[in-house]
Amino acid sequence: MTSLQPVLRQAIMHNKIGHAWLITGPKEKREQQSLLFAQALLCQNLQIGEACGICASCQKVKNGQHGDMQIIDPLGQSVKIEQLRNMQQTANLCSFEGGRQIIIINQADIMTEQAANSLLKILEDPPHGLYFILNAATESQLLTTILSRCQKLRLGEEKIEEILKNTEYKELAQRAALLLADLPNMSYDQVLIFAAAFSGGKESRLLTMVFLNELLTYLRDAAIVSLVPQAQLLCQVPVKDCCLSFANALKAAEAVEECQRLLKQNVNQKMLLDGLFLQLKEWAG
Ligand SMILES: [Zn+2]
Repeated sequence: MTSLQPVLRQAIMHNKIGHAWLITGPKEKREQQSLLFAQALLCQNLQIGEACGICASCQKVKNGQHGDMQIIDPLGQSVKIEQLRNMQQTANLCSFEGGRQIIIINQADIMTEQAANSLLKILEDPPHGLYFILNAATESQLLTTILSRCQKLRLGEEKIEEILKNTEYKELAQRAALLLADLPNMSYDQVLIFAAAFSGGKESRLLTMVFLNELLTYLRDAAIVSLVPQAQLLCQVPVKDCCLSFANALKAAEAVEECQRLLKQNVNQKMLLDGLFLQLKEWAG
């Protein structure tokens, strides 16, 4: 059985809980931790910072029927302001018990702007006893003003090997090679269209990270092959068509690494990729 992450357990044990948490990482893991955390916050028989799993309260959480816990799932494509308003009304009605109330927001990264602003208002002046557990794939889509009011738990990303099992990702190595062969013939508009393929949808960040990894491998191979043509035999994808000189391949590899570094922070993904691909086009001629 999965147990509560140490940082959440510590928070409960030391009673330094904070009224808002953000848990990021793979969907299954983060939603599981959100529920375990809610269970521990409401448990009547805590065991060293963890829920006992058997008291009446724990049972109700497990069945999703605890009166002091609300789970907000996206309605259609997003979490909407009406859902937050309904939550607030219900929370106000229950708040006289003096106990804790837990609000879990699943996929908080696809809140509408109105919903996010409404949540921000609540977090700026949180009612006593009300605790928010937001969970999201990454921090990058959330308002920085919300982020700054949350304690954070990062569960790590899905392993690259797991991602690569998905067929969508299998062709990325080939696409990286094709891009570098085609760049000199592409117009700037075509480069931007290529970049746009990596800047939509909620899974695009993972896809982009994998693609950039492939691009990096290819650029390093290309740099070596430009110096030692026989090294071609060691490469997984033939690099004979790479349009970059040795010096430019090295510069490009550095730019890709920098892009990967920034992607892990809260930097606008579209802007980053537009910039990277246009820069590669410059070097390719
Ligand atoms: Zn319990």
